[in-house]
Amino acid sequence: MWSLTPRRTALFIALATLAGTVLFAVLLGLTGTWPWSVALVIPLLASGIAYGVGLFLVQQFIQARVSLILRTVHDIRMAKGGSDRSDADVDVLDELDREVGAWADQRSTEISGLKERERFRREFIGNLAHELKTPIFNIQGYILTLLEGGLEDPRVNRDFLNRASNGVDRLIKIVEDMDMITQLESGVMAMSIDRMDLTALVKELIDEVEMQSREKGVRIVSKLNEAVWVKADRGRLSQVFLNLFTNAINYGKSGGLCEVRTFPLEDQVLIEVSDDGIGIGPEHLPRLFERFYRVGMSRSRHEGGSGLGLAIVKHIIESHDQSIVVKSEEGQGTTFSFTLQRSK
Ligand code: ADP
Repeated sequence: MWSLTPRRTALFIALATLAGTVLFAVLLGLTGTWPWSVALVIPLLASGIAYGVGLFLVQQFIQARVSLILRTVHDIRMAKGGSDRSDADVDVLDELDREVGAWADQRSTEISGLKERERFRREFIGNLAHELKTPIFNIQGYILTLLEGGLEDPRVNRDFLNRASNGVDRLIKIVEDMDMITQLESGVMAMSIDRMDLTALVKELIDEVEMQSREKGVRIVSKLNEAVWVKADRGRLSQVFLNLFTNAINYGKSGGLCEVRTFPLEDQVLIEVSDDGIGIGPEHLPRLFERFYRVGMSRSRHEGGSGLGLAIVKHIIESHDQSIVVKSEEGQGTTFSFTLQRSK
């Protein structure tokens, strides 16, 4: 877009001077007051001086007025990590225009980030309240029934107390999971990365969930035959496997199989935990690792999950600077694959 810059303004002044002095010089030349050679040099000289002086004055005038604004905007941008580009040859108005434009862009990115965070926070609090409500109302219901006479009824008193206790366990699980996610997200949780044998850990954890898996009729099998050395936080990695195994059990079918395999990569090991359970529809996969995300609210609420297990898994893997992906087909099964740093 065409605009009046200091250079152009000075050029107009110079052209006006040229027009005026040419007229004057022609008169002087015609009347013979000055020789033509001198008379014609005068306009060029005068317009050159007019250009230089004009440019200097206009720049001084603008500079005095806008440099303060420019400096303020520039300082704000620099404080927010903008690049320090200050070109003496660039027109000060262009520079101001560019700085203000960049500042406005930065602001609008910031505002959309804040809006997104606000939406996320609202959604998160809503989800948390929703998760806590179910066990709290259940516990309240059982306690009220006991207080209103159930306590004296030997057919229900123990059963209702057990159910209330299960509700409390569920609340504790949600709060513990929340606590872990918060610590992982805020980076407060110190990781203690050591060289460890994955094969031994997987075997240990399979034994730990054996009761649960036997109850559900899901067999968990390790295909790791020899030691696989990795660099990881043993405690956190146990949590990853336990969450994946619990899901394979909860969303597996009776008589089903969950297998753990590893594949050596260059500097890493790829670990796969696969099951032949109910699987997950493709529309759910992109959001699966989000906090509280569930595939079909009813089916997992009934299994007692908090919807936080996979969010924790992802956080832990990412705290190791590694990544996790999921592949799944409804009715066929699910495979979680993640990497770990290999240790010699
Ligand atoms: P939850 O505590 O509800 O199990 P997760 O974060 O562990 O929460 O899992 C999120 C959702 O992903 C679950 O509600 C479930 O619907 C689905 N899911 C997770 N693992 C599997 C699996 N192995 N097979 C089928 N669905 C799964």
